[in-house]
Amino acid sequence: TTVLVAIDGPAGSGKSSVSRAAADRLGFGILDTGAAYRSLAWAAGETGADLDDEASMLAVMDRWSYQTTLLGDQRIGVLLNDGAEYKTYDITAAIRTPEVSGQVSRVSKHASVRVRLNEMFRQIVAESGLPGVVIEGRDITTVVAPDAPVRILMTASPEVRATRRAGELPGMSHEQVLADINARDMKDAKVVDFLNPAPGVTLIDTSDMNFEQSIQAVIDTVDA
Ligand code: C5P
Repeated sequence: TTVLVAIDGPAGSGKSSVSRAAADRLGFGILDTGAAYRSLAWAAGETGADLDDEASMLAVMDRWSYQTTLLGDQRIGVLLNDGAEYKTYDITAAIRTPEVSGQVSRVSKHASVRVRLNEMFRQIVAESGLPGVVIEGRDITTVVAPDAPVRILMTASPEVRATRRAGELPGMSHEQVLADINARDMKDAKVVDFLNPAPGVTLIDTSDMNFEQSIQAVIDTVDA
């Protein structure tokens, strides 16, 4: 069976990049669940579906097929059925735009969408055949993999998170990035609590850690 390392945390906590690097060192795969939510928000835009309407989003999921790899180069693809045939899209870059970031909470608020995605995540892990998978998101330690042997909540102060994100988004001011992050966290935190560690979950605050120290903190938690 595949060993799971579950990591939750808010935007800009270092979660994605740290999880990826830690997975590499452990020889584990990495599953970025936020990318699947982003891919659905992108698909809704592509098909003109109403992101706030749960039934419309389930209908999008019926014609949507998610493609990711857990090792190596993390390309994100989707297949979308236009009624006649499936078309393939590489959306690796498209899902990282501020537009998609601003829309994605409208998709992730739907309970039935979450249930279907969670089934997909468990299936991806089960079929991976890998010794281990680091799976990161917002509700991995509590909902997707509450029985994982390693569960981590990664946080950082809002200012530190905004500074890290601003570095990835040239052209956006620190204030704008901070406002966007706070707005998204407030919406997301109504659906799942990723700001406080659940019982048994190890809290890693990366505010005063550099990248290398953050990776080491994850490895140490896995080894403990
Ligand atoms: O991690 P990332 O910032 O890419 O996540 C994008 C969005 O996907 C979050 O803002 C949230 O709305 C949603 N999400 C979620 N549950 C997860 C992972 C992501 O609701 N496990």
